[in-house]
Amino acid sequence: MSSHVWCHGTKCHKSHTQDRVRGSKGSKVLRTRKVKQNEWNKNSFFKYFCSNSCYNDFANANIERIVALAPRTEPLETPIDDPKKVKHTSNYTYSDGSQHTWTTTEIKERGVDTQSE
Ligand SMILES: [Zn+2]
Repeated sequence: MSSHVWCHGTKCHKSHTQDRVRGSKGSKVLRTRKVKQNEWNKNSFFKYFCSNSCYNDFANANIERIVALAPRTEPLETPIDDPKKVKHTSNYTYSDGSQHTWTTTEIKERGVDTQSE
């Protein structure tokens, strides 16, 4: 594997930053950044893009082709247990002796044990 790739951002070479300036005096250019290939980016889009902004430019320019790779014609669904309303009470007691309470909805995927604490 090569140690770097050129950033695939469509406008990478248009950004006015010092590190993109290349060439000799009188014939300077703004050049696409190199993206180092390393452990940190090997499993993400940062393998091909120098920034989120470059990734977004590429995705926006190619979105129809990207979506065509895996078209979604039907929604996906995750089976869940019936949601449970859970009432919580704050440890803080107001001067009038009352406590703040709130309710959350607990949603658990069916068949998945969520005991992670
Ligand atoms: Zn870039």
